[in-house]
Amino acid sequence: MSDNSNPKTFYIRTFGCQMNVHDSSRISQILTSLGWQASPNAKEADLIIVNSCSVRAKPEHKALSEAGRHQQARKSRGAKVILAGCVAQQGGQQLLQKASGLDAVIGPDAICRLPQILQQLQTNRTPLVDIDEHDLKNPCFVPLVSSKTDQISVPVTIMKGCNNFCSYCIVPYVRGRESSREVDDILDEVRQLAAAGCREVVLLGQNVNSYHDPSGHDFPELLDELNRQAAVERIRFTTSHPKDLSVALTKAVSRLDRVCEHIHLGLQSGSTRILKSMNRDYSQEDFTKKALELRKAIPGLSLTTDIIVGFPSETWADFQKTLDVVEEVAFDQAFSFMYSPRPKTLASKMVDDVVAEEKARRLLILQELLNKLESASLAKLCNRTLQILVEKTSRRDENAMSGRTRCNRVVNFETHRTVLPGETVDIIVDQVRGHTLWGRLGTNNMTELP
Ligand code: SF4
Repeated sequence: MSDNSNPKTFYIRTFGCQMNVHDSSRISQILTSLGWQASPNAKEADLIIVNSCSVRAKPEHKALSEAGRHQQARKSRGAKVILAGCVAQQGGQQLLQKASGLDAVIGPDAICRLPQILQQLQTNRTPLVDIDEHDLKNPCFVPLVSSKTDQISVPVTIMKGCNNFCSYCIVPYVRGRESSREVDDILDEVRQLAAAGCREVVLLGQNVNSYHDPSGHDFPELLDELNRQAAVERIRFTTSHPKDLSVALTKAVSRLDRVCEHIHLGLQSGSTRILKSMNRDYSQEDFTKKALELRKAIPGLSLTTDIIVGFPSETWADFQKTLDVVEEVAFDQAFSFMYSPRPKTLASKMVDDVVAEEKARRLLILQELLNKLESASLAKLCNRTLQILVEKTSRRDENAMSGRTRCNRVVNFETHRTVLPGETVDIIVDQVRGHTLWGRLGTNNMTELP
């Protein structure tokens, strides 16, 4: 690493979910507080951190090969390479043999020990491994605190880990058991983020519906507190497990004005037999009933989901049941994947008997249906006036701005007056282009809240 005369620089490459993106922000915050400077590329960085994801096989391979790409930087200028995240947690010591050229392998719970880890890296000649899981009584949440943020929407971790052990999922093995953060800590972080310029928070947890803080507050109560605090304009959350979706939560979303009308509810499969084998603890009928009740109770709700095709023993009839639920619930958007076995999980011991070509065929059929439903959901918003929280200049047109509706739809719009990120504006939607809405500043009498 650099000597004292030059600022030390770091580069982080992040793979995977929002939780990992958030972990990278926290790593970045700790390094910055220690005097390090962020570098936009790995070429000059003194410290390279690859924050990995092991939810599916593909991102895992990508993370390992990314770590391997920085060997030259280690040899030529003494850069240090750390493999962080879920792949690190899962592989631990063994990764030092599997992937050469790592200076450290650290799990998600080691983030709060980063200052000590960096000190050890200065003196240690041998690579270090820190994959200790969080202590349930002292789970060590690292809040994001900044005097100024250029992010309008900021994730806030409200819980760690998961107790569910869905048979395909590696999360409980790499993120440990469920542990919720105190309501007061969360309120403090949100207050500070709002003071720094943030307008929207996304409450993150593997299963926010089972949030229970040490003082006994549940998730609807947390939403109530945040709404009452009124520090940010919008409150979102992800992810919700269908089995824990309560009437109290449905009421909270429909009643609290700052809580956005968007729920991400993982279906995974529409076949009760496959759901049982996935250890999801709900049937196709339970899911459909809850989803339709949500739609009824929360006007304008956007309902999104995750679906896996080709789970072990999934027949064509099982897959057809998934298509039926998708059609009946009419999801507004979805993430869909082909099943791939993850080590340690229960499903990895089942016979992965749906061949790759068949998985790909089912995925294609499912995605065609999902695209059709998404287009229909977007088309319904044309000619409506929607309230947009402006985030940034549009990626597609530098003369346009981009923001999101309350139900999490991206809307681009051209403007002849200055509109700044963080403003809330009314937009009349003119057209749908791909997955995005386009419109113009103004209102008409077709106003629809979300
Ligand atoms: S609820 Fe299931 S899928 Fe979600 S993180 Fe927990 S084990 Fe994984």
